[in-house]
Amino acid sequence: GSLTVGELANKLNKEPSEIIKKLLMLGVMATINQDLDKDSIELIAGEYNVEVEEEIVFEITDFEGYDSEDSTEVLEERPPVVTIMGHVDHGKTTLLDSIRNTKVTAGEAGGITQHIGAYQVEVDQGKKITFLDTPGHAAFTTMRSRGAQVTDITILVVAADDGVMPQTVEAINHAKAAEVPIIVAVNKMDKEAANPDRVMQELTEHGLVSEAWGGDTIFVPLSALSGEGIDTLLEMILLVAEVEEYKANKNRAATGTVIEAQLDKGRGSVATLLVQKGTLRVGDPIVVGNTYGRVRAMVNDLGRRVKEAGPSTPVEITGLNEVPQAGDNFLVFADEKTARNVGEARAQKQLQEQRSEKSRVTLDDLFEQIKQGDIKEINLIVKADVQGSVEAMAASLQKIDVEGAKVKIIHTGVGAITESDIILASASNAVVIGFNVRPDAGAKRTADAENVDIRLHRIIYKAIEEIEAAMKGMLDPEY
Ligand code: GDP
Repeated sequence: GSLTVGELANKLNKEPSEIIKKLLMLGVMATINQDLDKDSIELIAGEYNVEVEEEIVFEITDFEGYDSEDSTEVLEERPPVVTIMGHVDHGKTTLLDSIRNTKVTAGEAGGITQHIGAYQVEVDQGKKITFLDTPGHAAFTTMRSRGAQVTDITILVVAADDGVMPQTVEAINHAKAAEVPIIVAVNKMDKEAANPDRVMQELTEHGLVSEAWGGDTIFVPLSALSGEGIDTLLEMILLVAEVEEYKANKNRAATGTVIEAQLDKGRGSVATLLVQKGTLRVGDPIVVGNTYGRVRAMVNDLGRRVKEAGPSTPVEITGLNEVPQAGDNFLVFADEKTARNVGEARAQKQLQEQRSEKSRVTLDDLFEQIKQGDIKEINLIVKADVQGSVEAMAASLQKIDVEGAKVKIIHTGVGAITESDIILASASNAVVIGFNVRPDAGAKRTADAENVDIRLHRIIYKAIEEIEAAMKGMLDPEY
């Protein structure tokens, strides 16, 4: 392992300036953040009569590889994990509440439900479904942008009295980008103004054609308020699950994803984990993102203490040294010492990455990436002031083909560039193009934080030219 000048000073309990001086006298020019090699460390330590002992550094910072694949014989059916998306006020929250309230199993009746970010219901014959109960696609994309894939099925809620709205389209694009199957819930059927045919008609324009019209998208008319149609929706979810055959090995060290996490005054770090493989048990040594610990207590979505949790089960745990982030992966280890070492190695690696700030696709490095064969497709999000410009831009951009590299438009919209556009761009490694529009304050902040490239234009052909030039490696350098 290596140390920076500052870290070494810290360990020796000296001022960094003193160490820098000593290094100078030894002929080494160094700044406080500079990494020192082993020889320099030993030399300096020797000056203070301190002996250097090398720590054993654990290199498991990437769960992949360590988190082995299971052979198909050991896989067993697991409940599908469902996310609900749709336009604001179309009934997402009402639907989530309604499903939960009607489906609390007989034995659990009276149990105090607890919001832990996800819940599970039991439908007929003991079949279960897990719902992530943070409505909206923010959670969905935040997780995906962090590399986590937790959702198996998306329920797209569309109010029958309102039809397809901008966030409906966003939700569709999010689900498509993640290649997650969509079931359409045509909500508010109890309303007089309900017009399900209009919803079906409008959704065909976005590639969702109902089975009744010869397509393959399931549409379920329902009322989240009265509960009518909810049973059918649950059956349809199970039907899709049967076709997709979601499976996992429950007899292995547990792994999965953080759904939400926070600091609790009394209990310390509290995290809701969705177990995706294996079985999580109280007492398990665990690494969660860059944090680690031992599962001290586990509580399910009914607020009951449980001892173990299998695939697709959400549980709230305590016992971590710090608060992880939604979308972080977790993995159980054989002993606590390994868990601590791995957790610390991951935290260290993250620090280093933050220092060298890995950036996403930008037009400036696009050509390099195409040349190296890293990307064959450039994902674009197009926003403009009027629908006509959106269409004109998208059509021209899609025609670009440079040495086998193509443009893929993953989302378009009218109006300012919003935070949601940036989150989608970040999750899909896309560049955002604005024509006669600007990013709002939230979008700007997020784009900076996530390193998303935004290109603003006032003339359509200039925008097209720029993309083409970038793909050919002929972009004028920016100063
Ligand atoms: P969200 O923003 O998508 O989470 O929407 P909400 O669940 O908060 O619902 C918005 C409004 O629509 C609330 O006033 C609900 O009571 C109402 N609402 C939701 N579902 C239905 C329904 O099936 N029928 C009727 N009539 N109203 C509904």
